[in-house]
Amino acid sequence: MPAKRTITIVGGGVIGLTTAYALIQAGHDVTLIEREDNVGLQASFGNGGQLSYRYVRPLADAGVPLDAVSWMFRAGSPISLKLRPDWHQWRWLLDFLAACNARTNQKNASILLKLALRSQKTLHQWQQDGLDGFLWRQPGKLVVYRNAAKFKKAAKAVINPQQEQVLTPQECARIEPAFASLAPRLAGGIFSPDDEVADCHLFCQSLLTALQSHPSFRLLRGEARLEGGENDRCRITIDGVKHETDVIVLAAGLASRALAKPLDIALPLYGLKGYSLTVQADDAVLPTVSVTDYDNRVVYARLGNRLRLAAMVDIGALDASINPERIEHLKRLAAETLPAAGPYTSAATWAGMRPATPTGVPIIAPTQWKNLLLNVGHGALGFTLSVGSALTIRDLVEGMHT
Ligand SMILES: Cc1cc2nc3c(=O)[nH]c(=O)nc-3n(C[C@H](O)[C@H](O)[C@H](O)COP(=O)(O)OP(=O)(O)OC[C@H]3O[C@@H](n4cnc5c(N)ncnc54)[C@H](O)[C@@H]3O)c2cc1C
Repeated sequence: MPAKRTITIVGGGVIGLTTAYALIQAGHDVTLIEREDNVGLQASFGNGGQLSYRYVRPLADAGVPLDAVSWMFRAGSPISLKLRPDWHQWRWLLDFLAACNARTNQKNASILLKLALRSQKTLHQWQQDGLDGFLWRQPGKLVVYRNAAKFKKAAKAVINPQQEQVLTPQECARIEPAFASLAPRLAGGIFSPDDEVADCHLFCQSLLTALQSHPSFRLLRGEARLEGGENDRCRITIDGVKHETDVIVLAAGLASRALAKPLDIALPLYGLKGYSLTVQADDAVLPTVSVTDYDNRVVYARLGNRLRLAAMVDIGALDASINPERIEHLKRLAAETLPAAGPYTSAATWAGMRPATPTGVPIIAPTQWKNLLLNVGHGALGFTLSVGSALTIRDLVEGMHT
């Protein structure tokens, strides 16, 4: 039996909460610190809901720089770039460009796949143990391609044809009839039958409810800060008051970069803004399968009796405020692609910042501070990778000598 420790987690998003759950299950005393009035209100709130376990290729890939140049001249492009006089942005972009090659993409995709599959397996165990209430389903994920060359490339990259089935446009329409009218405009699709969807915000709330029934857990509302201390151990304060703990896990999403700075840890995190729309619609018009329109980079997921659409990567956005032009474009795309689920004019709108590393691989690691672990940088896949990341932290805690 590993030693019981008191562990403090900074950040009550999906990463902090899954970490808390894994550590409570391993028998530790856990305090979670969140500065907002509730958990899961930042990047984990209105995301695409995809538990995209098989489809984990990082954004940085061969061809992306060229695509990005063409997107820069196209109104309503899936990726927008605003260059700023900010060394951190330039550094991040240079590292991103360095990762835009097939070899690095494949290497990072296999790291992500391993983490994703561990996430999937353990989430199912947690569900068997009673965790529920987050609109989980396993309908599979269909990625549809309009561009023939992109489809050919994706089809070639399939490793296991059982788990990633290459489909004709007609087969795509059969798998998800709600998108049948799109078939004549498609080159084909790839269907991953094992992929899942759920509501990430409800997942955060379910985790909190389960944690709060445990005597070794407590949630503290307040602003955490980190500073260097003696004997290679760092210190934590909450609203300026010193807080005693054996181990600190930094899981504060994008804010982790600023929190780690006083500790001489330069985290390569950058916020990639994205948007979502949520509409209520009749069961009959909602898709069952979760669908990604690859060329427009829009994901469509049914969450209960709602449809959630998520899209866009804005590089250089300063905060998560909603840009009206981008959201109007998303509404137009939705109305063209899936008109029956509209009208989208009254959809609930949301924007969030993906806490992204240049490679797309999160940082789940010890630091030069003996009592500090990092669980940050999950970018576009934080919901998908959260449970596996939490287990990695649990394993690291067990090997710690603080
Ligand atoms: C448009 C969009 C669509 C997405 N779609 C998907 C998807 O379909 N599937 C998927 O897997 N992922 C998706 N993602 C990515 C996913 O949402 C993120 O990777 C994930 O939510 C990051 O979780 P986090 O816990 O690291 O960060 P957050 O959810 O931002 O949580 C960090 C928490 O730390 C708190 N905090 C910060 N600083 C402090 C402090 N000093 N003291 C105390 N608390 C602090 C914050 O208040 C916040 O609650 C999407 C993201 C976006 C933006």
